[in-house]
Amino acid sequence: MPKPPFDQAELFADAARRAASFRETLPNRLQRPLADYAGMLRRLAAPTPETGLPADEVIAVLDAQMQPGLHAMAGGRFFGWVIGASHPVGVAADWLTSAWGQNAGNHQASPAAAAVETVAAGWLLDLLGLPREASVGFVTGATVANFVCLAAARSEVLRRVGWDVEADGLFGAPPIKVVIGDDAHTTVFSALQLLGLGHDRVVRVATDPQGRIEAEAFAVALKAGEGPAIAVLQAGQINTGASDPFRRLIPFAHRHGAWVHVDGAFGLWARASTQTAQQVDGVDEADSWATDGHKWLQTPYDCGYAIIRHGKAHRRAMTAAASYLPEVADGERDPSHFVPELSRRARGFASWAMIRHLGRSGIAAMVARHCALARRMAERLQAEPGIAIVNQVCLNQVAVRFGSDLPMAEGDALTQAVIARLQADGTCFAGGAKWRGLAIMRLSVISCATDDEDADAAVAAILCAWRACRG
Ligand SMILES: *Cc1c(COP(=O)(O)O)cnc(C)c1O
Repeated sequence: MPKPPFDQAELFADAARRAASFRETLPNRLQRPLADYAGMLRRLAAPTPETGLPADEVIAVLDAQMQPGLHAMAGGRFFGWVIGASHPVGVAADWLTSAWGQNAGNHQASPAAAAVETVAAGWLLDLLGLPREASVGFVTGATVANFVCLAAARSEVLRRVGWDVEADGLFGAPPIKVVIGDDAHTTVFSALQLLGLGHDRVVRVATDPQGRIEAEAFAVALKAGEGPAIAVLQAGQINTGASDPFRRLIPFAHRHGAWVHVDGAFGLWARASTQTAQQVDGVDEADSWATDGHKWLQTPYDCGYAIIRHGKAHRRAMTAAASYLPEVADGERDPSHFVPELSRRARGFASWAMIRHLGRSGIAAMVARHCALARRMAERLQAEPGIAIVNQVCLNQVAVRFGSDLPMAEGDALTQAVIARLQADGTCFAGGAKWRGLAIMRLSVISCATDDEDADAAVAAILCAWRACRG
């Protein structure tokens, strides 16, 4: 092999130094990008390079050019969306993953990548209290995890009525009824759309004020009509953190022959702490579960898990036989049999490293700490006149309403003004959402970097923004 015209060790060391100095800025960095998308496009726009740039220069230019458009998502005062913080151990494991250059397609190509997935999958099932026989696909995130799980569901409910959807497709197939809660995450609807099940062709079921499916409405929806059915439940509603009443819903759905899928992108991790496990009691009775590594487990992006009780349905939905691929013997596992892709990143390494680093007790403590911080922030905010917390803070999500004593339109305008002011200030970052028709500020406490001091600084900044807006 020709020697690269640069010092590889020096190149990697330079990248590591740059990464470390970025991370060191996080505690004091503004919690917002300095440049917006349009500004970054202007900054980066350039003709296609005709000639190359030396290795060290490329990395230096990349680092310098991107800085203004980076958001301190891995910092402790980032409360926007539901986003994990790319823990340093996961990042280091991910560097090795890239450096090793493993194609995680099959177990002969990379025995390490395949075996580490098998082991990390076993740990995941144990930590989340899911059936040990379930199979796990390592995917990009919960969106694709929902897709994979629902593909297996589609396969199995149609197989039971004698239809082979993998071979024959959906044209002419018996219709599948999809029952789903009114407050399900948008990405589940995306998955249904990709699978030919339609995002509007579903039976939407009423939910309670926390976004949990109403058991009566669920029963009515499932009882109506016959034939193949899939019920989609949720652990961790994105605005409230609340989970569906699994103990009641799942056995009922099973009695009516439905496959039960649970979107638990972050909420499934409530299982990992004894303080919150009760909220998702009975979730292990489902047929499939989607969850993320890059949220509460703090792996770097991209990392999610499609977990399916019925391994055969999982493989059937994801595997198209190809003659050039080696046969798999009993007890062997090819990572590509459980995901849509053949060639892909070996996500098992970072998953393994994060679980090995935190351990069961560390994960439990982190989940409990985030929930305690969410309650503390909610209590302090609620003590201020004109601020209301509109959800029961049962997990890590806080929905905040400003001008709560004012008419709706005024409260909406004030809430949006507070969010804009907070974002401009940059002490902490939180975004907006709509909940039950009202504008809210949504706080997600899910960064491994967040501590008491961060939470208190965020509360102080939010109160300051509120006092300035209310005039
Ligand atoms: C984040 C989230 C998703 C989507 O997960 P990605 O990892 O962004 O693909 C789906 N459902 C819920 C409840 C989520 O919080």
